[in-house]
Amino acid sequence: MIFHSTRGNDSGKTFEEVLMQGLASDGGLFMPDEWPQVDINHIQHLETFIDVAKYIVPMFTKSSFSDEEVLSLLDSTWHDFSEENFVKIHQLNESNDILELFHGPTAAFKDFGLQLAAAFFNLSLTKNNKTAIVFGATSGDTGSAAIDACKRFDSIKSFILLPEGNMSDVQRKQMTTVDSPNVFTLSIDGTFDDCQSIVKEAFNERPFLKDDQFLLAVNSINWVRIIGQICYYFYASLKISKNNESLNFAVPTGNFGNVFACYSAYKMGMPLNKILVAVNDNNILHRFFSENDYSKKSVAETVSPSMDISIASNFERLVYDFYTERDSSLCKDFYSNFPSTPIKIEDDSWKKSKDLFLSYCVDDFSTVGAMKDIYKEYSYLIDPHTAVASKAVEALKDKLAGKTVVLSTAHPAKFPLVVKNAGLDIKNIPASLSEIFDKKEKIYNFPASKDQIFDFITKNNQ
Ligand SMILES: *Cc1c(COP(=O)(O)O)cnc(C)c1O
Repeated sequence: MIFHSTRGNDSGKTFEEVLMQGLASDGGLFMPDEWPQVDINHIQHLETFIDVAKYIVPMFTKSSFSDEEVLSLLDSTWHDFSEENFVKIHQLNESNDILELFHGPTAAFKDFGLQLAAAFFNLSLTKNNKTAIVFGATSGDTGSAAIDACKRFDSIKSFILLPEGNMSDVQRKQMTTVDSPNVFTLSIDGTFDDCQSIVKEAFNERPFLKDDQFLLAVNSINWVRIIGQICYYFYASLKISKNNESLNFAVPTGNFGNVFACYSAYKMGMPLNKILVAVNDNNILHRFFSENDYSKKSVAETVSPSMDISIASNFERLVYDFYTERDSSLCKDFYSNFPSTPIKIEDDSWKKSKDLFLSYCVDDFSTVGAMKDIYKEYSYLIDPHTAVASKAVEALKDKLAGKTVVLSTAHPAKFPLVVKNAGLDIKNIPASLSEIFDKKEKIYNFPASKDQIFDFITKNNQ
């Protein structure tokens, strides 16, 4: 499989090039040249999540790695999960299932994409005798999943910037209590945007990098993360859907990576009825799907912080593939003027959304309400992100024919304050979370100044 940019000026890339480069050189996002097609009859005979991954992942990696290399990598990619089969499906009632994606070491679904990313980073680095620095800013679950996924590889050192902001204590401690010489967590006296601009400058200047060293980003646009997520959609579909009936998937959405993975699975042949895009008060995507208005507003802090975004970076892939039908010059026009000019799709193309997408926006009050309601009715505790999707399903149930799968993206124990304020109790704290409370935090404090941070990285990159 070969890849190209949504904006048309970076193409002919192998999987490995796309993996190590992240963002395309023209500012666009990488896409596969065509959608590989899944044989649904074949997939129905597979048993485990790994069986499915072993069928899906090699469809994207042949331009760089032999199938043997990839199959053996997949045997040890996903690790430290408390579920033997990684994913768990909880049937709530006749028409709704919860796809629990939080049984990994950081208790959020990002372990699926980032553990696969780290495994491929390490494969490429060791084969080419190189090393890498992972550098990124995080306001939620990405940082902890990236740190955890990379810490076991000597080829990779991670430096992660945390703004002092709307992050739960648990989320922070997951990053600051990691006992590995390869991991550095830096607390920045500034906002998430300050951190992002320091990361951007690091990628332009690369002052601390040794020869033969890669600088890798931690963000949601790397194609390899989408691959990891496509696997669980096929797996869920195989386990839940009888006789190939089409399912609905309700996805709590921030950067649109998880929704795009669902759309990708659909393009690869997964039977699908509707994708329900569920957002919190940061509702740029709901404004787009309901009014064709994709305009940037400032970020609001909510009880579902991992979805607090002002723009949804992976949405560009949908604009390119679905709305412009792969017209990169049109896609480039939209994005070169964004965000100063909001994106508005030509009416006829925009109307196609209705065939496949539903959207709904859930405020904090209703999010907490959904946590309480679900608990009351089913004695089942969901986290605030899952609650956003769950509430959206309830609100739009008349438009959802057949079964609906709600993606549960985080364990409720990651957000103990929200749970407590809802008057609910967490009964089972995953071991990976309970143990961080006794560990000492290691964190380096910095002003929002790139020079001091770059110096620190240089010193620790010996
Ligand atoms: C990152 C995250 C989301 C949003 O996922 P996207 O792929 O960015 O849309 C939702 N819930 C949780 C718990 C997350 O960590």
